[in-house]
Amino acid sequence: MKPASRWPLHPAPKEGEALSSWLNRVAACYKMDVHDLLEHDLGHGLVDDLDTAPPLSLLMALSQRSGIELDRLRCMSFAGWVPWLLDSLNDSVPAALETYVFQFSVLLPKRDRKTRSITSWRVWQPCLPLQRACPLCLNDPANQAVLLAWKLPLMLSCPLHGCWLESCWGVPGQYIGWENADAAPRMVGNAMALMDQRTWLALTKGYVELPRRRIHAGIWFRLLRTFLDELNTPLSQCGGCSDSIRYVWERSGHSLRAGQSLWHPYEILDQAIQLQMLEAAATAMELIESRVLNPRGEQAALFLPEQQAEFTNGLPVVGRKKELVNYWQAAVKAINEAVAEARYNAETARSLFALASYGRRHDPESLESLRVTFVKDGVPPEFLSHYVPGSPFTCRRQNDVLSDEF
Ligand SMILES: [Zn+2]
Repeated sequence: MKPASRWPLHPAPKEGEALSSWLNRVAACYKMDVHDLLEHDLGHGLVDDLDTAPPLSLLMALSQRSGIELDRLRCMSFAGWVPWLLDSLNDSVPAALETYVFQFSVLLPKRDRKTRSITSWRVWQPCLPLQRACPLCLNDPANQAVLLAWKLPLMLSCPLHGCWLESCWGVPGQYIGWENADAAPRMVGNAMALMDQRTWLALTKGYVELPRRRIHAGIWFRLLRTFLDELNTPLSQCGGCSDSIRYVWERSGHSLRAGQSLWHPYEILDQAIQLQMLEAAATAMELIESRVLNPRGEQAALFLPEQQAEFTNGLPVVGRKKELVNYWQAAVKAINEAVAEARYNAETARSLFALASYGRRHDPESLESLRVTFVKDGVPPEFLSHYVPGSPFTCRRQNDVLSDEF
């Protein structure tokens, strides 16, 4: 192994690029293949899960050679997307599907949703890796970066160019072949472009702007996955909402449930079926935002535009009463969403705990009882272990959460 030194030149990783793509491009820069680069230059055998959970020792070596921060390199693999996109990389966590897919509801009322349980499942992870890319992003042979998000059935289009991701194969930096080489880039419709831009914002900025308010990326991915499951629910289990589900599929232009008769989790469906499900999810969001659909799920209101101020007869008492009721409803909704997020977001958990402990700061017993209540509600106890009542940190985060995230 050569002594560690900085690479004199190497391509900079593109925003959202997969680690394997970047390493292939670095190797090409030195006229090597990625195997040689890893083994002879970095002293690592070929790692087959570069894009999932690369070894820390490899990331540290890469950071030293490239001068790129360790955190940034880590975010080029799925390990860096825990816990926002994925709860865990472990595919045998008990109740993983229920926790991710069934805590929210949009198209179907929560009480009507049949919670399902399967073993060995990891959200968004397809059975076979997807090989798709944006033909416009890869137009320049000298700068062919494959994004990590393209490897999951999470988006239909390129958020930068608005065109369909197309099937391809090859090695970034060396050659890329297209399944349909002669086809011109195809633009997606507005609904799909909007959904994918929101997903991209969640991946790159950590939040999404919905009509009603800004939400955290972790909530967006779980809402999107909820849509996909609700649209895949057999009509016999949709109660009074079966007409809505049928209508969304009609408007999407595809067969009901993309032709599925039995229920299977989204991740194990064929890629063509997954893409139709994503199209249907985009259609459903558009129908809700344009008020064509008025679904009964708890989180459906997030997609509704702000209510317009209504004409009143000028009597202040009536107007005031109405205003109070709306504020209260909004507060209850915000708290429910904050509790849902606190189950996997330590900062939100601490902020919510700070808010709930107001007035109890000098009462250890009361604080402990509150802590037990949080844990019973599904918040991991370790999220609350560092809480110091009244510290400036907790106050600041509390304000952040209230003004920015909810
Ligand atoms: Zn593109």
